[in-house]
Formats: sequence, structure tokens, C-alpha cells
Amino acid sequence: MIAESERLFAAAQRVLPGGVNSPVRAFRGVGGTPRFIASGEGALLVDADGNRYLDLVLSWGPLILGHAHPEVLAAVVEAASRGTTYGAPTELEVRLAERVVAAFPSVEMVRFVSSGTEAAMSAVRLARAATGRTAIVKFDGCYHGHADSLLAAAGSGVATLGLPDSPGVTAGTVADTLVVPFNDTSVVEALFAARGRDIAAVLVEPVAGNMGVVPPAPGFLEALRELTRRAGALLVFDEVMTGWRVHPVGAQALYGITPDLTILGKVVGGGLPAAAYGGARALMEQIAPAGPVYQAGTLSGNPVAMAAGVATLDVLARPGMWERAERWAACAANVLTRAAARAGVPLTVQRVGTMLTPFFTGAPVTNYADAKRADRAAYGAFFHAMLDAGVYLPPSAFESAFTSTAHGEAELDAFEAAVTTAWVR
Ligand SMILES: *Cc1c(COP(=O)(O)O)cnc(C)c1O
Repeated sequence: MIAESERLFAAAQRVLPGGVNSPVRAFRGVGGTPRFIASGEGALLVDADGNRYLDLVLSWGPLILGHAHPEVLAAVVEAASRGTTYGAPTELEVRLAERVVAAFPSVEMVRFVSSGTEAAMSAVRLARAATGRTAIVKFDGCYHGHADSLLAAAGSGVATLGLPDSPGVTAGTVADTLVVPFNDTSVVEALFAARGRDIAAVLVEPVAGNMGVVPPAPGFLEALRELTRRAGALLVFDEVMTGWRVHPVGAQALYGITPDLTILGKVVGGGLPAAAYGGARALMEQIAPAGPVYQAGTLSGNPVAMAAGVATLDVLARPGMWERAERWAACAANVLTRAAARAGVPLTVQRVGTMLTPFFTGAPVTNYADAKRADRAAYGAFFHAMLDAGVYLPPSAFESAFTSTAHGEAELDAFEAAVTTAWVR
């Protein structure tokens, strides 16, 4: 029974474009009616009709401790009870900044903003200012938020001048955005040979998550580090999704690569709106008011969000916590792989840490072109079968699923039972 979700979706579509405030929530990738959520607790999501789901989306990554973790809630309530925003500096900003700096050796200073979009946009501005160059390189299928200059993903097998991905983004805005295939070192080499002196920065999701989970090929990130260093360009790791998810710190610790700038979001805000960008002191001190690169925000460093971030990182740092979320992801990947083999379904499960994607294809997925060859209709059918069986997967074949420390044995059994039912039809 989803009568209440259907009623709310109809009402929503009258006053919100597509009935939602972020496109993927509308279920267009899988069809059907999006569930309107009434509450969440631990690994559980409850919709407006009272249906209960095991949540493997977790607000698209932030909730690594699950929904409404008691210590995060307590920190949020405590902060909110003292006022929700002041537009003036607070101790909580210093405390969260200190935790980020301690976790990421490449980050000596950090600036908090309210969304990953804002963080990526600001990092690009800083990279251009610091290098005095205009071009930026991004990878086909990597998402860095919806700032105009980053909404280009025109993908072909060769380096292309960016083409806008959305009406309203002008050709001029993305003319300085060079889009190349993920995991293709030789194309990046050729691009640097031709345009190296124009390139301000290479932006990369060090483990791609926004085309589904695609790990970097051996040597790929190393090559980006070397090429940018030689050309005097900055290497920018967008760890909005991978931060605290692919490793207890991030992809840069997992692969041993030191980027010049790091973009953070999702987990860092503990489920409230917060994101950040950071790097070496000399770079970050170019940001206003320490330096001339302007960037500001009415709600930046919001005390309630900072409190949620501090509480989340503190709980996550306890021994065995992160590993618990990772172990669950590894078990879930095994369950999927074994069940698909039994059912004769071609499936490639790709996982790094607490992020995983079941691609409906028999071949490994190394870039966006591969991802698009996976069977989307099969994913949609699987998604709905799982939803009917009480498991909430990402409503799109090109997204990562996420696990949390609230996912335990009982949830794993429920997941396995759902997978079995989904493929026995
Ligand atoms: C989610 C995401 C963003 C955008 O963050 P928002 O807070 O949604 O603006 C940017 N980069 C990556 C890698 C992301 O996964």
C-alpha cells in the first residue's frame, strides 16, 4: 500500500518541479512512485504509509552512522537549543576543522560551505586564481555538483571540448572545461601535451561514485598526480562521496596520493547541510579575508551542522566502527554476486569500502561508457522487486548504494532474503 505516497506525490507535483527538490528522488530512472518518507531510525526508513525499508541509500551517503544516531541527535539538539545560526564564528567550526585537518594530511586549512556543489565551485575558483590559468579537466561521468562550469560531461572516447549538459549552461561557460574518459591515462597525457600550460586543475572523484562505483585503475591517480605536478596544475580530489566512505579517512589515504585540494561533503555534515574544501595553507590563505579570492556564505559553518559533523566523526573514529559498515558492504556484495550466479543473471558488483553498485552486466565497469552498457531495465526490475521485499536501493542504475554502522546481522539476513525473493520470480 502506497496510497499516501501517491497522494503526496500528486500534491508535490503541483508545487515542486517533478514533485521533488533533487531530480533522482523522483524515481524517473526506475519508474513508479517515489516513497515519501516519514521517519528514519538506524538502518530503517519508514514511508508515509507506514511501510518499512532497509535503507541502502542513507540520504545518498551522509548517514554513515544510520538515521537519528542518538549521539548525533543529542549534539544537534544541544546546538539548536542555543540558537540555530549567528552569522558569527563559533567554537564548533574550529572543532570540526581540527578534525578534518587531523584526518587529511593534505589539508592544512579548510573552508566550510553548505553543499558539495558550492565546495567544488569554490575549489575551481581558487585553482584558477592560484595558477592564473583558465582550463579545468574533468572526467566523463564524474559529478562535482551542479555549478555551471562543471555541468559538462560530453563523453566520447577522445578528449572533447566540454558541451553543456543542461539548457541554461552556456557554451562559453563550459568552453574551459575539458572532459576526458575516466581511467584513461593516455588521453590525459595527450591533453597535457597539447594544453598543459592552460590547465588550472584536474578534478576527479578518486573512486567514481556518480556513475555507480568505479574504482581507479592501477596507476591512474598516480599518473594524474605526476602530470599535474609537472605542468604546474592542481590536482583536486572530490571526496564529497568518498570521504570517510572508501576508507576510514578517504581515497587519498587508501591510494596514498596527495592532492592539492580536497572537496568534502556528505559525511562531514553528519546529515545536515555542510561541505568543505581544503588544502595547503599557502593555497587556502588565498581565500578571503586572508587573501583576494572571494567566497562567502550566510549559513556557512552553521553551528547545528558543525555539531552533527563533529559528533558523527567522533563516533565513527571509535575502534571497529567504520570496519563494521565496511564488513556489511562486503557481505552484501557477496550475497548479490552469489544470488546472481545462482539465478544466471549477469551481474558485476563493484565495491570500495562502504560504497557498492550492482551493475547488470557480465563485464567489469571501468568508465561511464561501460556503465551505460549495463542493463538499466534489469536494474529497474530488481530495484522494484527489492523495494517490494522491503529494501530501499538507489532509484537509479548509476548510483552507489551505501552502508552504515547501524547495519547489523539482522539487516544482512533481511537483505539476503529480499535478494533471494527478488530473483525467484
Ligand atoms: C554529492 C556530490 C557532490 C555534490 O554535493 P551536494 O551537496 O549535493 O551539492 C559533489 N561531488 C560529489 C563527488 C558528490 O558525490
